[in-house]
Amino acid sequence: MLRTAFLAAAKSPRLRGATERSTLARPVVRRFVAGEQPDDALAVARALIADRLVSLDYLGENTRDRPQADETTDAYLALLYRLGAEDLAGRVEVSVKLSALGAALSGDGFSVALDNAAKICAAAAEVGTTVTVDMEDHTTTDATLDTVRALRADWPATGAVLQAHLRRTEADCVSLSGLGSRVRLCKGAYDEPSSVAFRDRAEVSDSYRRCLRVLMSGSGYPMVATHDPVLIGLAAELAEAHAREFEFQMLYGIRPEAQRALAAAGHRVRVYVPYGSAWFPYFMRRLGERPANLTFFLRALASHH
Ligand SMILES: Cc1cc2nc3c(=O)[nH]c(=O)nc-3n(C[C@H](O)[C@H](O)[C@H](O)COP(=O)(O)OP(=O)(O)OC[C@H]3O[C@@H](n4cnc5c(N)ncnc54)[C@H](O)[C@@H]3O)c2cc1C
Repeated sequence: MLRTAFLAAAKSPRLRGATERSTLARPVVRRFVAGEQPDDALAVARALIADRLVSLDYLGENTRDRPQADETTDAYLALLYRLGAEDLAGRVEVSVKLSALGAALSGDGFSVALDNAAKICAAAAEVGTTVTVDMEDHTTTDATLDTVRALRADWPATGAVLQAHLRRTEADCVSLSGLGSRVRLCKGAYDEPSSVAFRDRAEVSDSYRRCLRVLMSGSGYPMVATHDPVLIGLAAELAEAHAREFEFQMLYGIRPEAQRALAAAGHRVRVYVPYGSAWFPYFMRRLGERPANLTFFLRALASHH
């Protein structure tokens, strides 16, 4: 219920504008978002790479105008050249949302997004890093996977994301578990109808387990994106049994002590670090995942009055 309310709020332009302008929300948002500027993101990345890897996400989604999609692309290109120039590309990649690159434009949105994503992949390859294409709501799954396939023809290391809460995902894991295929498996952050998604938490975890078994017994590179200790334990066991290279992935600001402990135990751990001024939908998804975050948020707001 609460999660559904937050995910609905994430889509409200009015609430979004007001909250993004509010200085009161900023300190709480900073727990999950590195800051507004590339310098903020790079400072956070520099600190994290002492023991972890990083994926930087320039926040934005559902862009409705072409110049904004092109601006987002340029922001990624500038960021990537900085990763190269500042010797960070070996440990820092980028994550992109196709709807920020033009996929949500009317008409040929996905072909605009593919062109923009191709420029980003080319720049990433030039500086020596990789790109992972985030997965958005289920209406975009097929087009997103087609786009990733097209990108992989030229840049085979481009990462795909699959969401265990979708009923289709186990089959997608089978088709994406081939040689060299980088696949980030997450539970799924969008509010989906039961016709296409498991809505019960236990069913989502069961689906995650099945998907993990497929990826770990395949020949790709699994990227295990979860903060769930039970699934983390299972991933470590399966990886050992299959002698498989893989990485854990977690979000900036969530279970940082677990991130450090996994890294100290010798695991590869990548932290997804978002930055930029369009943080509202991302932040709403994080609040909806954990009621305690809401209490924390409200307490912070109240303490400013
Ligand atoms: C690296 C990464 C990339 C992702 N990319 C995508 C994507 O492309 N598309 C997509 O749909 N989703 C994406 N997600 C989000 C994902 O789908 C889930 O919504 C999110 O990770 C919460 O699920 P969980 O597996 O951590 O399990 P949960 O059962 O939600 O959480 C397990 C435990 O983790 C902690 N935790 C989880 N979330 C929070 C939080 N918000 N605040 C505080 N503690 C928390 C709590 O201790 C909780 O008990 C990504 C997640 C990660 C880690």
